[in-house]
Amino acid sequence: MLIDFHTHTTASDGALSPDALLARAAEASISCFAITDHDTIRGYDSVCQRSPEGIRLIPGVELSCVWSGVTIHVVGLGFDPKGDSMLTILEALDQSRLDRASKIADRLTARKILGSLQGATAIAGTSQIGRPHFAQWLVEAGHVSDVNEAFDRYLGQGKLGDVKAFWPTLSEAVSAIVGSDGVAILAHPLKYKLTRMKLNALCDAFSTAGGGAIEIFNGKQTSDDTARLKRLADAFSLRVSVGSDFHRDWQYGASLGVDGSIAGNLPNVWDDFL
Ligand code: AMP
Ligand code: MN
Ligand code: MN
Ligand code: MN
Repeated sequence: MLIDFHTHTTASDGALSPDALLARAAEASISCFAITDHDTIRGYDSVCQRSPEGIRLIPGVELSCVWSGVTIHVVGLGFDPKGDSMLTILEALDQSRLDRASKIADRLTARKILGSLQGATAIAGTSQIGRPHFAQWLVEAGHVSDVNEAFDRYLGQGKLGDVKAFWPTLSEAVSAIVGSDGVAILAHPLKYKLTRMKLNALCDAFSTAGGGAIEIFNGKQTSDDTARLKRLADAFSLRVSVGSDFHRDWQYGASLGVDGSIAGNLPNVWDDFL
């Protein structure tokens, strides 16, 4: 059975519209699916009334937050999309993303890179603005040769564009999801480049905050990483989730759908929705 609980649309930094993404998911015979745009459910809202037959579309989101000075992503699934705590944090995050964009632009200006706010805003259009829009602008304006270089030099973890000041705390993000009857999932735990000790501390904090699961599979990854994440889930008594983190067709990216059998005997989050 194919599951995909981590995907992006044009509502954030994905290339496909919510309709096009759902059509793809149907084509790929995915049983249980979620659109998890960064800090917005506008993509989900626009298609939730008309998901293709055979697909169970679950409300989803990928919330930005901060823990111990690191930007962390928490996927929320199965929450009430009209829940007070969810609507409140999403409203705050809309403003946070605008404020953060200004701050990133100010920092680029200090490096004599002018016009990035206007440029990135134009590229984002009606999408939730993010670092990928700045990356695309940096390429188009000739400051870097590709998106990778934009992240390496200006936008990646620890670089000037990694502005965390506007994010809610990990505990606030988890509470917003759980408070609207959803399950909170720690996204791609190995992508934060934490030491083993710090990753354990993160899982502990996440679990204490009310987090329910961790992603044991996110896009393309090695079987060693999957095994490590399964051990982590087991050690912290967290359930498991999986997703492609699909943004666009890309030779290094994953296509939609993950075989749920990868979870083995570990308790998973999709059983809630089937
Ligand atoms: P934001 O949510 O605005 O902070 O942007 C984070 C997003 O940027 C991630 O979800 C990825 O889609 C993208 N991203 C992060 N790091 C890289 C990278 N090194 N190369 C390309 N895209 C990246
Ligand atoms: Mn993204
Ligand atoms: Mn993420
Ligand atoms: Mn993602």
